[in-house]
Amino acid sequence: MSKVLEAININKSYATSGGGHITVLNDLNFHANRHEFVSFVGPSGCGKSTLFNIITGLLTPDSGSILLKNRETTGSPSPELGYVLQKDLLFPWRTVMDNVILGLEVQGIAKKEARARAAELFALYHMEGYEKKYPSQLSGGMRQRVALMRTMVTRPEIILMDEAYKALDYPLKIALETELLSVVKEQHKTVIFITHDIEEAVTLSDRVYVMKARPGEIVQEIHIDLGTDSRLIPERRLSPRFNEYYERIWRSIGTQPETLS
Ligand code: ADP
Ligand code: MG
Repeated sequence: MSKVLEAININKSYATSGGGHITVLNDLNFHANRHEFVSFVGPSGCGKSTLFNIITGLLTPDSGSILLKNRETTGSPSPELGYVLQKDLLFPWRTVMDNVILGLEVQGIAKKEARARAAELFALYHMEGYEKKYPSQLSGGMRQRVALMRTMVTRPEIILMDEAYKALDYPLKIALETELLSVVKEQHKTVIFITHDIEEAVTLSDRVYVMKARPGEIVQEIHIDLGTDSRLIPERRLSPRFNEYYERIWRSIGTQPETLS
């Protein structure tokens, strides 16, 4: 299996107001294989978003390196990497279609061609008929779909997601996760998925890195095999093996009250 992304000895600390510093990420080593769905799960404050920002190049680590297909990243955004955040960051003055094609426009593709390329995504994501609406006319779930479409339209090889479904209610979350899994498997994407939600990590992933806080460290790496090829989240959730993985992760995160925030 070839590694499409590799992180070597990543360290990051932030300056504190008292003049000291806190170590947020302590010597992280991890990788993602081609077409793999890899999650990071850990309590809030363990450094997941810091890690996300380092992978995307928005933040520079104090030491260590990120390799994208064996090449060290330089800090500028890579076209191979697409990302989706919890906050959907849609532009309110642009129609849904024009939000979706934003990344293509940035790449210098003419609006007409960009719209043609984006059109097929509307069917795939059950958003047909919403092309000319504005973000304010959409539900939270639809907005999150649009954010994902905007990422997918540029055809990134690797998709990085940070708590993308955190704010959604449970049934919607399940629906969007099912959709996500189906699309990324069909289109052979590599996904790096960041979440605090153990259930989400187990149901979606091929492999999970479990993190702890203060300082943020990887405490365990778990290969997930739910014994089913189903892409339906409810079916995966009901796998007899689900609980075993859930419990292992839960135990390695720890049950100290302060880690439950
Ligand atoms: P997570 O996404 O897992 O909740 P974050 O990466 O957002 O964790 O934050 C990790 C820790 O670093 C937290 O204690 C947070 O308060 C701290 N932190 C995050 N960003 C900054 C910053 N820019 N300056 C100082 N401390 C920060
Ligand atoms: Mg975060």
